[in-house]
Amino acid sequence: MLARNPNLYSHRRLEEAAEERGHELHIINTLRCYMNIASRRPEIYYNGEKLPHYDAVIPRIGASVTFYGLAVLRQFEMMGVYPLNESVAIGRSRDKLRSMQILARDGIGLPVTTFAHDPKQTEEVVRLAGGAPLVVKLLEGTQGIGVVLADTDRSAKSVIEAFRGANVNILVQEFIKEAGGSDIRVLVIGGKVVAAMKRTGAEGEFRSNLHRGGSAQTVKISPEERSTAVRAAKALGLNVCGVDMLRANHGAVIMEVNSSPGLEGVEKATGIDIAGRMIEFLEKEAKPGKTRTRGK
Ligand code: ADP
Ligand code: GLU
Repeated sequence: MLARNPNLYSHRRLEEAAEERGHELHIINTLRCYMNIASRRPEIYYNGEKLPHYDAVIPRIGASVTFYGLAVLRQFEMMGVYPLNESVAIGRSRDKLRSMQILARDGIGLPVTTFAHDPKQTEEVVRLAGGAPLVVKLLEGTQGIGVVLADTDRSAKSVIEAFRGANVNILVQEFIKEAGGSDIRVLVIGGKVVAAMKRTGAEGEFRSNLHRGGSAQTVKISPEERSTAVRAAKALGLNVCGVDMLRANHGAVIMEVNSSPGLEGVEKATGIDIAGRMIEFLEKEAKPGKTRTRGK
């Protein structure tokens, strides 16, 4: 397992689940791996030694180390090690704009989302998104940080300009008011929904992230929501993911697909052994040479 902090709940649970099923799991600090990119002899070194051959690799790459983490994961793929999620698929999901473009291509429901680089287009972007209220979000934000609700066109414009001034990429989205500060997190493993929970933001908060004080409970999802989640996972090529949806008047829309879903909230809310399901998926699928993309 590629992970920096072995003590996180999710990482401890994955280790436990692997060991319970008789596997040997090594936790490798992603940033301490180094590689040689020799023709046909890919290798990875760690603490002065060449890593042995593994059957499978579980990437738990933090958003802040995506660039190097994906390079390390690609190297495992080059060596024929089966990844729980492939580097290309994680790369798609880490870029909100790219993943939304791929989901839109496949006809999956999304909030109206606009994007522009040139600050001169700010007014157009606000208009295209349908006008206030709007949500402005950092393309590379996580845990709800960098997600701002603008109640008027004027405040939307100022927020967009402020983000631009800070030289960060953003997208501008219609605000799904009827979601009522809640969202649905659906866990998909191997093309099947294994758990779903509803997250509700703290009082007065439109963001439902558990990191922002939100709370979680188990929820029953409709067959349409189930198929939307499965289609999203498939479109991005993710074997394991957490699909975040908002319940809009016209049906569920996808907000984001997370390739390293946290397990604590969903296991505690639903009582389902998600870590175990992830290991069982690898038991079934991790065969040599089965990696589809190997970085391309
Ligand atoms: P992050 O990746 O940082 O979690 P999200 O895009 O998931 O950012 O947004 C955080 C939260 O804000 C969501 O869980 C949801 O509750 C709320 N939110 C985000 N976008 C919208 C939107 N377009 N309409 C309504 N609520 C939204
Ligand atoms: N291999 C291509 C890529 O990673 C696939 C394009 C796609 O994401 O659909 O960019």
